[in-house]
Amino acid sequence: MKLYNLKKKKEKVSFAKAVKLGLGFNQGLFFPNKLPKIKKKYLKELLKMNFIKRSTKILSMFIGKEIPYNNLKKYVKKAFYFKGPKIVPVTNNISCLELFHGPTLAFKDFGARFMAQILSYLNNGNELVTILTATSGDTGAAVAHAFYKMKNVKIVILYPKNKISVLQEKLFCTLGENIKTIAIKGSFDDCQTLVKQAFNDKKLKKKKGLNSANSINISRLLAQICYYFEAFALIPKKYKKNLVISVPCGNFGNLTAGLLSKSLGLPIKSFIAATNTNDTIPRFLKTKKWDPKKTISTISNAMDISQPNNWPRVEELFKRKKWSLKKLGYGSVNDKITIKTLKKLKKKKYISEPHAAIAYKLLKNQITKKQYGLFLGTAHPAKFKNTIEKILNVKIKLPIELKNRANLNSLSYEMKPNFKKLRKFLLEK
Ligand SMILES: *Cc1c(COP(=O)(O)O)cnc(C)c1O
Repeated sequence: MKLYNLKKKKEKVSFAKAVKLGLGFNQGLFFPNKLPKIKKKYLKELLKMNFIKRSTKILSMFIGKEIPYNNLKKYVKKAFYFKGPKIVPVTNNISCLELFHGPTLAFKDFGARFMAQILSYLNNGNELVTILTATSGDTGAAVAHAFYKMKNVKIVILYPKNKISVLQEKLFCTLGENIKTIAIKGSFDDCQTLVKQAFNDKKLKKKKGLNSANSINISRLLAQICYYFEAFALIPKKYKKNLVISVPCGNFGNLTAGLLSKSLGLPIKSFIAATNTNDTIPRFLKTKKWDPKKTISTISNAMDISQPNNWPRVEELFKRKKWSLKKLGYGSVNDKITIKTLKKLKKKKYISEPHAAIAYKLLKNQITKKQYGLFLGTAHPAKFKNTIEKILNVKIKLPIELKNRANLNSLSYEMKPNFKKLRKFLLEK
């Protein structure tokens, strides 16, 4: 598989290199040189396969011979061993695609665990690798658990102090071993900036074998394509021609993966890019002006991002496919309406959480009677226990994954958003 750098098209790298580098020259994102296309007849076959087999086939279409099929299958199996996607009906024609039944209770498990498998394969466990990543809430846990106790890999996770839920924090800041966590006194965008600065520092990068596990890493994106196919396989046949998918967006990795599944030939009618008040993209789609504002803290904290890293990939894909951006649904939902929506969902006997509620709200507003809608359930409501209990006046039981960590002390360091300090930390710890 060849990929090119969106900021320097001449820079072409293999899949292995793209996974190891994370970003290319000038922090350019890597994008597939060839966009595979599935023939209709084969699509039918694919949809009949089980999740692991189908996912391996899809991934091998992109990755090609670089990783032998049987090896790939082994890694997919290891990465996706947990309970897969589930569809739960909410109204007549709207269901939630729950992607949060993995070990850290968020969809990020799919991408992070696949990436961990691929990196350990490429690395052979020999070189020392430092994974430096920023999290707005759920990536941290998924990455930490995916790489926990892995040989020769050190994980450093930055997150905005006091801006992720207590339980989200407990899930990855209590592990220790090869997992180091730093609470940055700033926003998620500050954390992302620090990661970029570290990658710009060639000496540091080489010395520590820096790699990023953010959704910018192509291996994570490709892994996420797989559950869109699973969703399509699971929905009732009569709806397959009219499927609309609403994606709660932060860094726009999840949406990119969905669009890639469509480009492969999965007949999804349309997508809705749903954001919270941090609405850079909805405003951009409306006005064509790129005007990111200061990041605002909301109750859908994993989406508190005003400089979405994956957006250039979305634009590139639309260009390559000659699709019109006008066809992309979009919208933003503030906290007040998110809360209202959570209450409405409860009346429909569905206990959700803020991120999915935003996607549901926009789907509900934009879907037609003939269409069938899926909104992505990106995290388990228990991760936001305090918020949800207060809003909905219900008791949320903690799944075992959270219960095990809820009473442990955080082992995090604290730091101002200052690159010199981070650099020192990376060199010393
Ligand atoms: C990460 C995350 C999102 C945003 O996903 P992107 O791929 O960054 O757009 C949405 N909801 C939850 C719960 C998340 O953890």
